[in-house]
Amino acid sequence: MDFTFTPDEERFRAELKAFLAGHLPEDWDFRDFVGEVEKDERREMARVVNQALAERRWLALPWKEEFGGSGAGHMQQAIFTDETAYARMPGGGGQGVAWVGPAIQQFGSQEQQRLYLPRIAQGADTWCTLYTEPGAGSDLASIQTRAERQGDEYVINGAKIYASGAQDATMGWLAARTDPNAAKHRGISTFAVPMDAPGISIRPLEDMTGGTQLNEVFFENVRLPADHLVGHENRGWYQVATTLDFERSGVDSFAQGKRNLERLVAAAKDEASLISRNPAARYELADRWIELQVGFNVAYRVPYLQAEGLVPNHEASVSKLYGSELQQRIAGTGMHLLGQASQLAPGSPYARMGGAFSHLYLASSAATVAAGTSEVQRNIIAQRGLGLPRG
Ligand SMILES: Cc1cc2nc3c(=O)[nH]c(=O)nc-3n(C[C@H](O)[C@H](O)[C@H](O)COP(=O)(O)OP(=O)(O)OC[C@H]3O[C@@H](n4cnc5c(N)ncnc54)[C@H](O)[C@@H]3O)c2cc1C
Repeated sequence: MDFTFTPDEERFRAELKAFLAGHLPEDWDFRDFVGEVEKDERREMARVVNQALAERRWLALPWKEEFGGSGAGHMQQAIFTDETAYARMPGGGGQGVAWVGPAIQQFGSQEQQRLYLPRIAQGADTWCTLYTEPGAGSDLASIQTRAERQGDEYVINGAKIYASGAQDATMGWLAARTDPNAAKHRGISTFAVPMDAPGISIRPLEDMTGGTQLNEVFFENVRLPADHLVGHENRGWYQVATTLDFERSGVDSFAQGKRNLERLVAAAKDEASLISRNPAARYELADRWIELQVGFNVAYRVPYLQAEGLVPNHEASVSKLYGSELQQRIAGTGMHLLGQASQLAPGSPYARMGGAFSHLYLASSAATVAAGTSEVQRNIIAQRGLGLPRG
């Protein structure tokens, strides 16, 4: 593996940094970190940023020009994710660019590609992912939401849960059961669903930070034209598995972790008592810094393999597992360094850094569940990476 970036990649990184500096207010990153940015301000900033990105064909950077992208390489896309996550850029292509679009490119018809991809690249559609059900999470092949073929339509009935961003999404990427009599991995198909279709209702769920980004989504006799099926009927399981690999790759957790660790190091330098009353915190900070170096290499290995024409699989799980657990360790180090006041929630006048680390500590607990739990990632690594038998 080559550990250096090419001159073109370095040029792109510099251009992107200049773009971010030109479009985000100087204090954006800090205000957003400490929770001072209101929902409406964030939404408006996301709209402006996305428009500028779409004009440059950067919103869906690696896609072909005919679909609104720039035809950039996998490494350039990873650099984009790295820098935009570090800057806490609002907006971006979201799930549509990260995994739904790549899945449609791989499994969708040409007509579907022409229909859905440019709308993602222009920021016209926002997608959510509809896999998990109350009775099917880690064992995703057990999903019961039914898509029954009736003439030229599928009729969808069932319930999904933990759908991130479904309340704002215009389109849903749905996995549903099309053959209830087949073996469970064989009777699943994937669909593109307009989220305003009659019969869909959405109920936000409050998480332990008070956020409402997750949702339940109910389908009651939702009639979907048959051409909304993406890929072959009953082959959806394999499409979902591939899409999950796209979802699990990503350098963003390391980029955010780096920024958070930098804040802690700066605080420790500014306020000598943080270290004098807890000298062991120095070792924790040093450990987290080493882990970040490891993490960046693990994360950049995925686009490196893709650029070599290889298909990463357990490598994506390594990156996801390490990144999500490191996020939690960095949040924990923040709590140890900042002391008891770090436990105060955002809103308290005595909270350190606006309570950002207490929020991060709670929020990061979800990182090892989203996109497949740490146990599921370890199973994949044990089986496909190490060739061990199933447990
Ligand atoms: C922040 C967040 C965002 C999410 N966004 C989405 C989304 O947009 N769309 C979507 O469809 N879903 C989403 N999810 C759902 C997520 O994918 C599931 O929560 C996850 O796959 C786990 O499923 P579960 O909650 O049903 O837990 P379960 O599968 O019931 O697991 C419970 C526990 O048992 C363990 N376990 C289960 N099976 C095994 C096994 N074989 N070996 C060892 N241990 C095992 C798990 O690791 C876990 O600790 C999101 C979840 C979170 C937290």
